[in-house]
Amino acid sequence: MRPGMTDPRELDKQYVFHPFSMAHVHEQSGALMMARSADGCWITDDSGKRHLDAMAGLWCVNVGYGRDRIADALADQARQLSYFHGFSSMATEPAATLAERVIAKAPEGFSKVFFGASGSDANDTQAKIVWYYNNARGKPEKKKIIARDRGYHGVTVMTAGLTGLPGLHAGFDLPLPMIRHVSAPHNVWTRLPEEDDAAFTARLAKELEDLILSEGPDTVGAFIAEPVMGAGGVIVPPEGYFAAIREVLDRYDVLLIADEVICGFGRLGTWFGTEALDMQPDLMSVAKGITSGYAPLSGVLVGDKVWRVISGEAPAKFGAFGHGYTYTAHPVMAAAALANLDIVEEENLVERAGEMGAYLNEALARAFADLPIVAETRGKGLMAAVEFARPTADGWQKFDSSLQVAPRIVRAALEDGVISRALPNSDAVSFSPPFTITPEEIDLAVSTVRKAAGVVHDALR
Ligand code: PLP
Repeated sequence: MRPGMTDPRELDKQYVFHPFSMAHVHEQSGALMMARSADGCWITDDSGKRHLDAMAGLWCVNVGYGRDRIADALADQARQLSYFHGFSSMATEPAATLAERVIAKAPEGFSKVFFGASGSDANDTQAKIVWYYNNARGKPEKKKIIARDRGYHGVTVMTAGLTGLPGLHAGFDLPLPMIRHVSAPHNVWTRLPEEDDAAFTARLAKELEDLILSEGPDTVGAFIAEPVMGAGGVIVPPEGYFAAIREVLDRYDVLLIADEVICGFGRLGTWFGTEALDMQPDLMSVAKGITSGYAPLSGVLVGDKVWRVISGEAPAKFGAFGHGYTYTAHPVMAAAALANLDIVEEENLVERAGEMGAYLNEALARAFADLPIVAETRGKGLMAAVEFARPTADGWQKFDSSLQVAPRIVRAALEDGVISRALPNSDAVSFSPPFTITPEEIDLAVSTVRKAAGVVHDALR
């Protein structure tokens, strides 16, 4: 204990072990920004400077910051029933009400929600459900899970491996041995110059089928994908992609898990990404947007096909479903989610995300068209990215990672008061603002990042 030290910046530097941060740099230099308060799309830091948060925290503060209605719901519920659990058929009213509300929004054929506290634990639960389902059906070999390069599914021992980003595997002995990856549908780094959507989709579906056949279909349990990949680069698949993938999976009795942790609850301008991308999953994971980040809550939505086995063959073989967290179906978190969904519905924020998303994507395309190091601007709804790369005679080449192109752009924009995000494994800068963002705020975010990119471009020459 160091007596007398009270400066939060010093305390942070000394005592907080930061996620996804350079340990030695943080210990030396401390926090890049210390947030103190927030309202709407704006964060105020400890020096009083205001920043436009064009990332809604980590893709999650969909209704914007500072909503009294959610704060009041949290406080009221904490006073009335601060906690009770869902084990052994115990229940609380907010969780029951929320489950019905989530299922009412979900695609046809979904009937149950299993609650957790993070996107990672939801996807971890998914893996266990896939194994449990196949064990109950007498298919104990059917355990491998296929994910995609650049997919982001979390950080637990299972889900960090499903995540197709090497930075989450390095030093952790991951992925676990039952995990496989196929290519991402990335226009810049995977699509061949001569491929149209149909040819690109057909090649990616064939890659998946070839992998299932080479592994042995009896050993493959599930395929997991985000409707639009988020942290891996905001990658929107080509037209027809998920229909082609579904056909392959159906042929080999492989479940499809939609990771809706970012897309779910409106970010693409539809309640779920599955609607926007014509994805027909057997299982879905949700988190972030269910509470807009005001409280940690996730859900695994279970489709009828899987539920029939969980409530049919499984109990006789395994007894009670032996999985659950202390905080599964937490009533305070559920109350926050209910207030959040009230806001989303009453303010038509799903529609608004679609409209503001179109505005954002057009603004990015216009603003970055003349910068020679822009390989692509892309997005759907309020998820967008600009991919920076070095132009070559026949396409694009990644910048050497030591040049830190995207991180430098993001850092320069932050100095000018706009929060964007540098995504790993190439140089993409992302935008994923609250649904309440205005056209003027979008213009500010885009012009600030464009200016920062111009400065970095000039410095590269
Ligand atoms: N799945 C997706 C698509 C995500 O974007 C994330 C987090 O960004 C996760 C899962 C993991 O969620 P959490 O960080 O809440 O564990």
